Amino acid sequence: MLDQPLASRDGGQVTLTAEIVEVFESRLRGALIRPSDSAYDEARQVYNAMHDRRPALIVQARDAADVTAAVGFARDEGLALAVRGGGHSVPGFGTCDGGLVLDLGAMTGVRVDPVKGRVRAEGGCTWADVDHATHGFGLATPGGVVSSTGIGGLSLGGGMGHLSRRCGLSCDNLLSADVVTAAGDLVTCDAETHPELFWALRGGGGNFGVVTSFQYRTHPVAEVLGGPTFFHMDGDVMRSYQAFIEQAPEELNAVFAIVLAPALPFVPEEWHGKPVMGVVTCWSGNEEQDDWVRGEIAGFGQVVGQMLWRMPYPVINTLFDELLPAGLKHYWKANVLKRFTEEAIAVHLEHGPKVPSLESGPFIFPINGACHRVGVGDSAFAHRAANFSLVIAGSWQDAADNEANIRWVRDYHAAIAPHCEAGGYINFMSGDDQARAPANYGANHRRLREIKAVYDPENLFRLNQNVEPAE
Ligand code: FAD
Repeated sequence: MLDQPLASRDGGQVTLTAEIVEVFESRLRGALIRPSDSAYDEARQVYNAMHDRRPALIVQARDAADVTAAVGFARDEGLALAVRGGGHSVPGFGTCDGGLVLDLGAMTGVRVDPVKGRVRAEGGCTWADVDHATHGFGLATPGGVVSSTGIGGLSLGGGMGHLSRRCGLSCDNLLSADVVTAAGDLVTCDAETHPELFWALRGGGGNFGVVTSFQYRTHPVAEVLGGPTFFHMDGDVMRSYQAFIEQAPEELNAVFAIVLAPALPFVPEEWHGKPVMGVVTCWSGNEEQDDWVRGEIAGFGQVVGQMLWRMPYPVINTLFDELLPAGLKHYWKANVLKRFTEEAIAVHLEHGPKVPSLESGPFIFPINGACHRVGVGDSAFAHRAANFSLVIAGSWQDAADNEANIRWVRDYHAAIAPHCEAGGYINFMSGDDQARAPANYGANHRRLREIKAVYDPENLFRLNQNVEPAE
């Protein structure tokens, strides 16, 4: 069977004998899955159902030795290599046709050091794994707003969520990482050891190697006040939101959205399915100020419904899980911005209400506060002067709606992009955004290309928002 050609890295073909593959398999502790195996169809799936790809081989790594073996095998045999953490990449970078998938999903060990205020998590963890472990000690490290998202892709691209304004991006909290490089070395990098690699991992995506474990700083966050507030569509809601976020205490995080109102008990029935503005709040400050927070947010405009309650921190990262299960289709586009201009607000008021599905919407993450305490050149994440990260997220159920959803995202993005910075957050991009790499990596693109030339000169790790090695 394996005498058939496989996909090579450069788009050509590679022929491997069954014997070569068997020798490789004998070096693994995890499973090696082939298309003829019963586990294949489940193993090849990624979160975004737009990508129905058929890899030739899938390694379900159990440890760093498996990762080293798989990286070496793909490199030596010239195979296309897709590295998968949580599998949430909208462009489907965690899979490929005809090549090798290195799936880290079984590597989910987490160890918390409550004395030093650190957590070490293996490269296949989701945020649910990390939140659960740290919460046991009344601690948290900032992650994403959906618990099934992988810590791998999210942290390497930057990492925005409900604690960004207070604790910074996920990558700002990274203290060290164990990385299998393209050469097959397992190196531990931090501010002192392999500092250039450590710099590049914090915003440069999966370009520089496979991270087998991440070590993050933790913060004392046990409970938060959180939940959504929905408003009538009105430009003043955006103006008030912006003015508030520019000066609010850093313990206050609020993600802005335009969505179809969900059929939840606190939303009046006549609003169900109608376009509304929404603000998802996370207040990790003092409980005595909860009512102040409720009032400030409600003051943004005419409220359709508000539901803010005290919850354990991990719970706020599950509020969207049910709405966004694996198997939906996704197409997203993104930019960062300093301020919403009046022209930008007009674009949102025109395109936002046309949101085509319950799961879709423009979402605006605040990235000021603690995110601004890291300089542009201090890590690879370049957007330190921006206050907001916008994603036009198309997410839907039925393949028959592909065209309508993709068109909505593209039209909206074409209209709003002139009112934003040129670049955007790499983790909110789609597969057709590769040409935007210079803007997305911004002032740090050149340095990333130089580091890529040192750690991955042949561009083995290319299924990502790619940084090409400097010549
Ligand atoms: P994967 O598809 O597994 O990987 C994505 C990329 O990272 C690939 O290029 C892969 O090779 C690389 N990679 C993954 N793990 C490793 C590793 N251990 N070592 C080396 N490379 C690795 N982003 C935010 O910042 N905040 C959010 O709140 C947020 N919410 C989201 C919600 C949903 C429903 C979705 C679909 C995405 C969300 N994102 C968010 C975007 C998210 O950050 C990216 O999709 C990210 O790439 C997901 O990482 P993953 O490990 O799950 O993905």
